Amino acid sequence: MNIGKKNSSGHGPWHSSRKISGSSVWGRGDFVHICFESCGCRFRKQGYCMMCDYGAGDNVTETEAVEILDHVLRGRPVPRRLLLGTCGSILDGSEMSRTVLMKILQYLQNTDIEYIIFETHYTTVSRGILYELKNMLPGKTVAIERGFESSNPNVLKHSLHKVMDLGQLKQVMHGIADVQMEIILNVFLGAPGLSVKEQLEDALEAVNWAYGHGAHEVVIFPANIKPGTKLWELYQTGKYERVSHWLLIKLLGKLTEEQLGRTAVSWYGDRQDAGNDLDILPPEACDQCRPVLMEFYRRFMNDFDASSRAALLKEVKSQVSCSCQGSVDEKLYGGV
Ligand code: SF4
Ligand SMILES: [Zn+2]
Repeated sequence: MNIGKKNSSGHGPWHSSRKISGSSVWGRGDFVHICFESCGCRFRKQGYCMMCDYGAGDNVTETEAVEILDHVLRGRPVPRRLLLGTCGSILDGSEMSRTVLMKILQYLQNTDIEYIIFETHYTTVSRGILYELKNMLPGKTVAIERGFESSNPNVLKHSLHKVMDLGQLKQVMHGIADVQMEIILNVFLGAPGLSVKEQLEDALEAVNWAYGHGAHEVVIFPANIKPGTKLWELYQTGKYERVSHWLLIKLLGKLTEEQLGRTAVSWYGDRQDAGNDLDILPPEACDQCRPVLMEFYRRFMNDFDASSRAALLKEVKSQVSCSCQGSVDEKLYGGV
């Protein structure tokens, strides 16, 4: 059996999201994300995190997992990167049994996918499971991705309602690096209760913390306001404003060249642009700026070369002269 070979044909690459029974799938270019249904994040059940609503359902069985992989990968060009997650943590045995996980790993052994990412909470990462992933996926780059959000304990606790022990996270990161696996940390832009300036500073500090402690890549998640979350409630009651796209552009503009070449952005409105997840509010911009920004992000995510990206950033700032760009400057530098 050899699945997802490069010369396969029949379907095009993923460019949208799709519900496949037992999962949801999102793809953009040569990147595919499969979220397997699960009973939900154990931390969510305890009331964390205020911006998250990953939902919950039934854990997938071995047969369903294989059907989903078949459905997503067969007859399509091989994704360069495959991200696998559940409604919370894929390495949490209560969300996905080890038997199902092993079945998935066996399946992936027979594909040409070179880069496989597992999205999971750091408390679910043990040396034993890291070795298992590594041994089951020989010749592939394996990465662990996790929601980090902020390096500021106050922001984590009081703004995002997220419990995280940064010392323990550092140890886990060392453990991942020890087995030559990659670390991807997700950073949140737009923490509630902070001024726009503080939101920018908080995200920048988190990016610096992540790279300073060995992350290979940072993914910046600008705040998305999802129905059913505490963030949604704050927004509905006028206590929270949507993040501006221009704040994300500001943040990217503050990264060092090396960081710029390793940083990705996610959930920036690409799903809505493709007609999906229309009930979720991504960052905002006016009708004049939005198409320009979407084109910027598309090119930004297609090319990780730092100098090309720096040129793109320069270009996008000069392409529109609009009050929504100016209002972010005012909030940052005008004492608002
Ligand atoms: S953000 Fe992550 S840790 Fe927090 S509730 Fe959602 S899935 Fe769980
Ligand atoms: Zn505008």
